Amino acid sequence: MRIDVVSIFPSFFDALEVSLLGKARAAGVLDIRVHDLRDWTHDRHRTVDDTPYGGGAGMVMKPEPWGEALDDIVRDTRERPVFVFPSPAGEVFRQSTARELAHAPHLVFGCGRYEGIDERVFAEAATLGEVRLISLGDYVLNGGEVAAMAMIEAIGRLIPGVVGNPQSLVEESHEDGLLEYPSYTKPAVWRGREVPPILLSGNHGAIAAWRREQQMKRTRLRRPDLLAE
Ligand code: SAM
Repeated sequence: MRIDVVSIFPSFFDALEVSLLGKARAAGVLDIRVHDLRDWTHDRHRTVDDTPYGGGAGMVMKPEPWGEALDDIVRDTRERPVFVFPSPAGEVFRQSTARELAHAPHLVFGCGRYEGIDERVFAEAATLGEVRLISLGDYVLNGGEVAAMAMIEAIGRLIPGVVGNPQSLVEESHEDGLLEYPSYTKPAVWRGREVPPILLSGNHGAIAAWRREQQMKRTRLRRPDLLAE
C-alpha cells in the first residue's frame, strides 16, 4: 500500500519510522511518503493560509498549494487514490472504516490546520480520486496530523505482513462489534490479585464461554451504544 501525507508539520510523522509500521516500511510492505505543504508555495514566506471570506475568527488554508500538491502526488500513480481529509465535521472513523481503507492501494492524507482547508480543495480532489472527510471523534484537535497518525496506524496494522500473527487482529475490540475480554499474563497471583481461575483450567470451551460473557458484560457497561447497533 502507498500512503502519501501532506502537512505543514511533516516531523509529526517521524514516529512512523518506529515499531511495527517502521518495520513494515523498511520491509517495503508500506510505502509512506510525507510531504511539506509549504514546498508547493511560491512566496518568500511560504504562505499557506489567508483570512476567511465572509469574516470570522482564524485563518483558512489557501487552495493553491493544496491543488499543486495533490496534482503532483497523483501524477505518477495509475490507481485513483482515496483522499482522506481529517475533519471534526466528517464521518466518524471506526474499525469498519479502517477495514474499508485497508483495501485501497493508495491513500493520500491531507492534514488541515487553522480553521481548516478552503472547501474547493475537496471538490478538486474529487476529480482525482475518492474523497473522504473523516473525524477521529467528537472533539476538536489543533490539526489533522494526530488524526492522520491514528488512522494510518489503525489501517496499516490491517495490511497483511504488518502484524506478525494475523489471528491477533481477529480477536480484538470492535472486530466483532464488542469490546475485547480482559487479558492476564504470569504470575498467577500478583500483589494478592488472582487471575480468574477459569483461565488456568485448561478447558478451552469454558474459557471461550467466559471470554464471550466478559465481552458482553464490558460492552454493556462501557459502550451500550455498540449493543444497540
Ligand atoms: N474549524 C474547524 C471546525 O470547526 O470544523 C476545526 C478546525 S481544527 C482547529 C484544524 C484541523 O484539525 C482540521 O482542519 C482537521 O484537519 C483537524 N481536526 C480537528 N479536530 C479533528 C477531529 N476530531 N478529527 C479529525 N481531524 C480533526
